[in-house]
Amino acid sequence: MACIHQGGCLICRVYQLESIITSQATEVGGLERTGAHSHIRGLGLDEKLEARVNSQGMVGQLRARRAAGVILKVIKQGKISGRAILMAGAPGTGKTAIAMAMSQELGDVPFTSLSASEIFSMEMSKPESLTQAFRRSIGVRIKEETEIIEGEVVEIQIDRSVTGVGPKSGKLTLKTTDMETIYDLGQKMIDSLTKEKVMAGDVIQIDKVAGRITRLGRSFTRARDFDATGADVKFVQCPDGELQKRKEVVHMVSLHEIDVINSRQQGFLALFSGDTGEIKPEVRDQINQKISEWCEEGKAEIVPGVLFIDEIHMLDMECFSFLNRALEDTMAPVVIMASNRGMSRIRGTNYQSPHGVPLDFLDRLLIISTQAYGEEEIKQILKIRCDEEEVEMADDALSVLTKVATETSLRYAIHLISTSHLVAQKRQANKVDVADIKRVYSLFLDEARSVQYLKDYQDEYLY
Ligand code: ATP
Repeated sequence: MACIHQGGCLICRVYQLESIITSQATEVGGLERTGAHSHIRGLGLDEKLEARVNSQGMVGQLRARRAAGVILKVIKQGKISGRAILMAGAPGTGKTAIAMAMSQELGDVPFTSLSASEIFSMEMSKPESLTQAFRRSIGVRIKEETEIIEGEVVEIQIDRSVTGVGPKSGKLTLKTTDMETIYDLGQKMIDSLTKEKVMAGDVIQIDKVAGRITRLGRSFTRARDFDATGADVKFVQCPDGELQKRKEVVHMVSLHEIDVINSRQQGFLALFSGDTGEIKPEVRDQINQKISEWCEEGKAEIVPGVLFIDEIHMLDMECFSFLNRALEDTMAPVVIMASNRGMSRIRGTNYQSPHGVPLDFLDRLLIISTQAYGEEEIKQILKIRCDEEEVEMADDALSVLTKVATETSLRYAIHLISTSHLVAQKRQANKVDVADIKRVYSLFLDEARSVQYLKDYQDEYLY
């Protein structure tokens, strides 16, 4: 194996981790899900950070989006860490949507999202849960000197005894002259070839230190329909090959991932099972020490990311004092919190406070408020959701749905999009019409009608 680290060191583990994450991503890559915020592609701001009325899936909420954009700019410049922002506004006014948009814009910076109630668990203490959330949101950019070879795969033949298709013998011709590297990489390279599903005509990149192939794209000049899955691949020199070398590769992992792969018997697999358990403080101390040595030597860089905590009123005094202290740390991420509560009791006390947040902690926060939407904005959001869910809706049906949203809630109206589409499909129609909306409106209760129903039939329920 070509790994200069002999396996077992922290960098080797980062490589292992990255390759597992990549393979998992490939496996789920075929699934397309429409999540509540999947239509959000960014904050939709122009170059002066002014919010466009309808852009990147975001509609309205101009001041809040602009404020988020300003914060984002400072985060991207690496100028702030350890700040806390509170998104405050009524339910369904886009607080989570704006936080998601910020994460989209951040790109290669860790973003962790959780609901405050997740911190209360039987398996670990509140400070441990919060510490893990913080460390998930702090990235370490590890720089590594390596040789990268880029080449085009000329031909792959698949061993029929393995795949049941293709010719008998295996052969891969790569447009590179550095054959020594290729032979060195051996089995590891074949593994990554098959995981990446490299085909003839693909342009690939070989990371010499990690012993890994990355598929960059296709040249389209020599594409053939061979798939290297399960292939017995041999590497053959191509004399007219081109060789490119680059010196620095950068790996991004979170501090939490480094903690986990160094702390448990099962190592990085715990990241996927979620069974990370409590991590010993000594492990974290050692890792912090190692990382700061690397930072001093210029081998690594700390990248503070973003931690989004929804339903902030669910936190208690212990959590707030933890946050107060944790935000002072030089490595702290930017913490964005959201609350849809007005004056509320601080959990575990009899004190009332705005959003259920203690006043001294509130004083540390930059507060962005979100406003209620007007009818036209609601209509545009619903239209975007229809496009996202691939639902064709007649204009008058969209107007009725908008009216439903103004009288109930935006979220309830969004739920009616896919359900009304099912009703339309049932009557063999492609387009949702007013009758379909009315039908699902009568089938599913919104919050106000549900409360009314309970009041009317209170006596029939158990106490
Ligand atoms: P809550 O306080 O109940 O958690 P919230 O303020 O976080 O609510 P969201 O969950 O962000 O509200 O919004 C509800 C739905 O409306 C989501 O599907 C969200 O993506 C969408 N949405 C809200 N505001 C906008 C907007 N300005 N542009 C586009 N979509 C939006």
